[in-house]
Amino acid sequence: MNLIHIGPSVDAVETALLQFSQKTTFKDKFKLVWDFATPYININCDEIDKTVSHSVLWREVGNREYTTANHQDYLRKSIEAYTKSIAFAPVGSSELSLAYANRSAVLFRARLYEDCLLDIERSLKAGYPDKLKTKLFLRQSLCLKALKPNSGLEPSISMANAIQWLPDLKKNNPKYNITKEYPKMINELKEPREIIKCIPEIKNDNAIIVGASDAIELKQTKENNQHVVATRDIKSGEFIYIAEPLAAIIDSKIRFTKCWHCCHQTWAGIPCDNCPNVIYCSDICKKKAWDSYHNIECLILGQLLKQEEVCTDYILTVKLFLKTLNSVGGLVELKKKIDKIDSIKNQGLIFTNGILDCNTIDNFHLLDYFEATSNECTFEYALFVVLVILILCQKTDILGKKMTANNLIKYKNKKLLILGELLLRYMMIDHRNGLAVCIQLIV
Ligand SMILES: [Zn+2]
Ligand SMILES: [Zn+2]
Repeated sequence: MNLIHIGPSVDAVETALLQFSQKTTFKDKFKLVWDFATPYININCDEIDKTVSHSVLWREVGNREYTTANHQDYLRKSIEAYTKSIAFAPVGSSELSLAYANRSAVLFRARLYEDCLLDIERSLKAGYPDKLKTKLFLRQSLCLKALKPNSGLEPSISMANAIQWLPDLKKNNPKYNITKEYPKMINELKEPREIIKCIPEIKNDNAIIVGASDAIELKQTKENNQHVVATRDIKSGEFIYIAEPLAAIIDSKIRFTKCWHCCHQTWAGIPCDNCPNVIYCSDICKKKAWDSYHNIECLILGQLLKQEEVCTDYILTVKLFLKTLNSVGGLVELKKKIDKIDSIKNQGLIFTNGILDCNTIDNFHLLDYFEATSNECTFEYALFVVLVILILCQKTDILGKKMTANNLIKYKNKKLLILGELLLRYMMIDHRNGLAVCIQLIV
């Protein structure tokens, strides 16, 4: 990881690596790397904000992709560029409405009429200019026609709206002829694109295990080892357990076509209101993310994504950490909780009021991890933890108040050490248990 700009001598690095290998706890390993690395790490913590100029820039890229259409996947590329334009547009700016409207045109061409309707609505809500509304309402009318061929009422209402705004359009574009435009758009209208959604389902819920069916139950051996057994024959293809991951992440390179929370594909993503870095498939995912981790992540994600050396897996650890931190309420409380769980280890999964939910924060902390003495707990991981903490402490009041970079060099207090110890342990939990899924889509 190339984070050290004015580096230490080769001897100093070798000594640090040797000392690191001799430390046996997460806390001591973190402390060593913190002291060693902080004087050399220079992070530019400039804000990465939504700006009109960035939004315009990406809208122009989208326009270019869409109008030249010289790639096989020009629709995807223009949707992605318009989505970036949406993400960068400040809340309340006209750029937001323009970007939504432009994306709706691509979604229309892509026969994604439901998504197109969503973007039209968003564009109107964000204050789309009166002089352009006619075209938007025409598009809306046609989408409704495609989706509900037997309903005349809704497309007619949209058409009436299109006509209502015609005088505003004609002020700037006197030659516009709606009676010519409409048939042209009707000609473009095709069957809605078929979207095959696989939604797994549990037929009969398990009374004890959250997310499981009644086909399984949990048994315990005399030695207290837990295992799952079948209670009946299980049909081929039958779902017996469905659970969302405690936290998931997508490769940051594709984060403008995938939901930052549930990782599902989305062509009509909505942005975080505060940062330009992520999009969500729905308001539900947006709220879930904000309430569980993005309220803090939002302040640091831009900085983390800027570091070329930081791979997405590492950011998953931060997500997990912030989620548990939020759920417990504070750093010291989290440390107390983990110490308590550690003290009852080897008693199997933790039930709450007789119910087993594997996705609780308590059960997450029972997961195996690579110990501090393991070869897997490397200097590089500890260096990433140092980097995260340097950003976190400058951008948030996790240590009680926001710190400056200068104050943080060689800074040490109880809270900082807890932060280092826990984050390094989380890296090792993630490294040991994280599952990477690679899906190749053929479009
Ligand atoms: Zn989602
Ligand atoms: Zn954000």
